[in-house]
Amino acid sequence: MRQIVSAVIMMCALFVVGCSDFGVNIPDEATPFTPPEIYRQWWLDIEGCAQRYGDFNAIRWFKVPDSYLFSSAGYKSESIAAQTYFKSNVIIVRESYLLVAPIIRHEMLHILVPVKGHPRQYFRSECAKVLINNWPDDGTDN
Ligand SMILES: [Zn+2]
Repeated sequence: MRQIVSAVIMMCALFVVGCSDFGVNIPDEATPFTPPEIYRQWWLDIEGCAQRYGDFNAIRWFKVPDSYLFSSAGYKSESIAAQTYFKSNVIIVRESYLLVAPIIRHEMLHILVPVKGHPRQYFRSECAKVLINNWPDDGTDN
């Protein structure tokens, strides 16, 4: 019996390590990093403007080299600086954007507003002053 329990525990451990987090495909090129202290201030900034609050410490941060191209809607683009998987609390950032506050705040807001798209209520409100929305405002929540 004890051996069976050990085997089950071992299988779970392998599953967790081998499985890429509830549907998030962490790119092979990605490496985890500890967020710099300034990120906590940026988190407070975005909590303040959005009036939504979350657990900064729950976010798992990864960086990818600039040569890595994120995919969005089926195409790969150099213009995508970062991606957030809000269901898994994962933010992945290209290296040269790691200290670009408006981009990091944008991704943080995705964690605080865990829905698909960019709800205007948050992304085009007070928060627009402290984050980047690098697409035209077409009046929708895209
Ligand atoms: Zn976004």
